[in-house]
Amino acid sequence: MERPQSEVWFQRAQQVILGGVNSPSRSYKSVGGGTPVVMVRGEGPYLYDVDGNRYIDYLAGYGPSILGHAHPAITRAIQEAAEDGVLYGTPTPYEVEFAEMLRAAIPDLERIRFVNSGTEAVMTTVRVARAYTGRTKVLKFAGCYHGHSDAMLVAAGSGPSSIGVPDSAGVTRNVASEIVTVPFNHRDALKQALAAHGPELAAVLVEPIVGNFGIVPPVDDRYLADVIDLAHEVGALVIFDEVITAFRFHYGSAAQLYGVHPDLYALGKIIGGGLPIGAYGGRRDIMEQVAPLGPAYQAGTMAGNPLSMRTGMACLRVLSDPRLYDEMARRAAVLVDAAESAARVNRIDIVVNRVGGAFTIYFGREPVRDYDAATRTDSRRFARFFHLLSDRGILIAPSKYEAWFVSVVHSDADIEETAEALEAVFRDLAR
Ligand code: PLP
Repeated sequence: MERPQSEVWFQRAQQVILGGVNSPSRSYKSVGGGTPVVMVRGEGPYLYDVDGNRYIDYLAGYGPSILGHAHPAITRAIQEAAEDGVLYGTPTPYEVEFAEMLRAAIPDLERIRFVNSGTEAVMTTVRVARAYTGRTKVLKFAGCYHGHSDAMLVAAGSGPSSIGVPDSAGVTRNVASEIVTVPFNHRDALKQALAAHGPELAAVLVEPIVGNFGIVPPVDDRYLADVIDLAHEVGALVIFDEVITAFRFHYGSAAQLYGVHPDLYALGKIIGGGLPIGAYGGRRDIMEQVAPLGPAYQAGTMAGNPLSMRTGMACLRVLSDPRLYDEMARRAAVLVDAAESAARVNRIDIVVNRVGGAFTIYFGREPVRDYDAATRTDSRRFARFFHLLSDRGILIAPSKYEAWFVSVVHSDADIEETAEALEAVFRDLAR
């Protein structure tokens, strides 16, 4: 596949935009380099690059584009909202209706606030938890990504309960020392960390189904309930980061799939229908810490803007049909079967984690249940896999730590075309 115009645009981009990208994960650094494909248009399950090449899209904008591109319901909502003006700086009916819609889907959201990104949503839940408990530390799980606020960039310590070191320059040691990191899916590590830091912990923060070292579900059906019970025993609140998971696997939260009730939720991605959004919410008595009712401050010029509210509602209205989720899961299963049989035929070791319409193909033999296992998978093979797929018009994220997202608009024909591409790519990989 030829991409001369992508080259031209990426060269130009690097002269004005730092690194040529507005988010580091869009660069091809973790797939051995290369020029990122520069896209100009999306329609249904397809993206088209500046050279006119067509891609079947499983990147889905890193999750939000569950309705594919330019879905009529989304386009209509955006047009209608634009005609009414996009920002008032006052309360609107749209934010009320949308909050009601979210609470009807996820009743734990007794009170909600809209923000503009998942980063803001998580950052604020942490502030609220600290305000409510009067405590400072936060426990997170290694490899989970919770946006780029300072504290959340602390990824890992050397041992189960060790104090983190900042992974990003510019995050102070003081901030890093407030974060305790443990491996996901290991009850004993969590217990040890809670025993060591319990009385100082404001919150335990978790992606209930991990999406940031690939798709990694809880190790068993009790795990999340145990995380919640253990956290509550030491007086810490529990925050579920459902920025990826909410409305991804069914019309509601991942918490509901496991029958559990965290104290606070952070939401984003899908609920904006492709427009910038974040939201947080949860127990009313905890949320009442937030201004104007309480002493914890959070605000936003663009928060709850009519454009995002009306588009988000349009997206959720489409998703309220449960058959769509069954279809996404079925189509993802077809792709996983195709990948597994192609890998087997070509004697390539892969492990696949799939939940509903989302999955990750890891190159290795070992089951992936935590971040360390994900890091041990074969990065170089993944990089080749990524580029080979891209050359056959299949778009996935340029990182072994991301997921394939099937959308409601992938047809059986798209799935078949992708399955054929997978067969060919595994054949090439074996050469
Ligand atoms: N939380 C999770 C689980 C995420 O995956 C992300 C982004 O990928 C975020 C938070 C941050 O969201 P945003 O990129 O909208 O700031």
